[in-house]
This record gives sequence, C-alpha cells and structure tokens, in this order.
Amino acid sequence: MESVIEQSCPMCYTSGSVKMIVNVHEIPYFGEHTELTLSCNNCGWKRTDFLSGDDSTPSKWELTINRNTVTARVVRSSSCTVRVEELDLEVEPGIAADGYVSNIEGVLNRFISAIEMLQRQALQDGDEGGYAACQEYIDALRTAIDGEGSDLTLALLDPMGNSKILHENARNTILSEKEAKELSVGPTIPTFDVSDLGL
Ligand SMILES: [Zn+2]
Repeated sequence: MESVIEQSCPMCYTSGSVKMIVNVHEIPYFGEHTELTLSCNNCGWKRTDFLSGDDSTPSKWELTINRNTVTARVVRSSSCTVRVEELDLEVEPGIAADGYVSNIEGVLNRFISAIEMLQRQALQDGDEGGYAACQEYIDALRTAIDGEGSDLTLALLDPMGNSKILHENARNTILSEKEAKELSVGPTIPTFDVSDLGL
C-alpha cells in the first residue's frame, strides 16, 4: 500500500511531499507486524518504523545472550529503549531513531560500533582510562556473542509495545505505568495511529 499523506515534511516543511509505504509482515507464531516507510520526495528525508499488529501494551522483552540465542530475530520500533542490563549499556530512542528488524547479534554489533566510536575519541584525546574501559565493554559483548553462555541479558523496553524478541526463551513482561513513563518514546513523527490506516 502506497499513499501520499497530508503531513508536511519534518525536514523541509514542504506540504504534500511525504509518501507513505505500508507493508504488513506475518511473523510466524508472533502475529503481524506493520512496516511503515515515510519518505519525502522533495528533500530525501526517510524514516522506517514498525508497529505491532496486535496490541500496544507497554512491554519488556528479555533474552539471555549466548551462541544459541544470537540469531533470534529482534523487531525494534522507534520508541524502544535497548539495554544490556549487566553492563549498564543503554540506547534510548533518539530524534532520528529508525525502527529496524535485526537479530540479537546485529543489535550487539550496533552497541559495539557505538562504543568503538567513543574509543577512537578517547584515543584522540589521549584518555587511556576511557580507551581501556571501552575495550572492556567491547570484549564483554564479543564474548557474549561467541560464548557458550554469558551472564548478559538483552532487554527491549517499549512503552508503545511495538517491539519484540522472537525466541522461545525470550521473557515478556508488562511494564508498570511508572516504568513506562520513565522511558523516552523517541521521535514524535510519525504521529499517526495504525487504526488511521484502515488495516
Ligand atoms: Zn522534505
């Protein structure tokens, strides 16, 4: 389904320039997920996001990271906070947050890339302590990806309930109102509801 929506572009403010493409994916055992892609044909701005087909209960998904679970599929929407709990690592939804579908390894590699960037900065600044600390995080994440069994847990916290870890051992709990309130929900655009799409 492809349509031009009545919303001006958040980047260049041209009205009527934003095109929306909707794809509904059926994920085995986990129901439907709707993929939305918004793009501006004037300036090239683009955003992808995922919406859960079933309900929007604020939820938390957790999975212990090891060699057998790194291939588990992950659907992360733009409102989702990702944590590696034992390392106190967290990525909050940013202004430019896109949703994505990946697997546990892919998510951990995103963490590693971000830490490597910090590490390069530490090197430039001559910050030896910072450099070593970054290396410890990177080593811990790499060991978790390749290891027999780590003590690390990947958690997705989504106040909008649009994110999931697709694995039989994944633990799903409902976030309390207080927990949900404390989380950032990320970008406020797009601002529509799935029910507006007539799906
Ligand atoms: Zn634009």
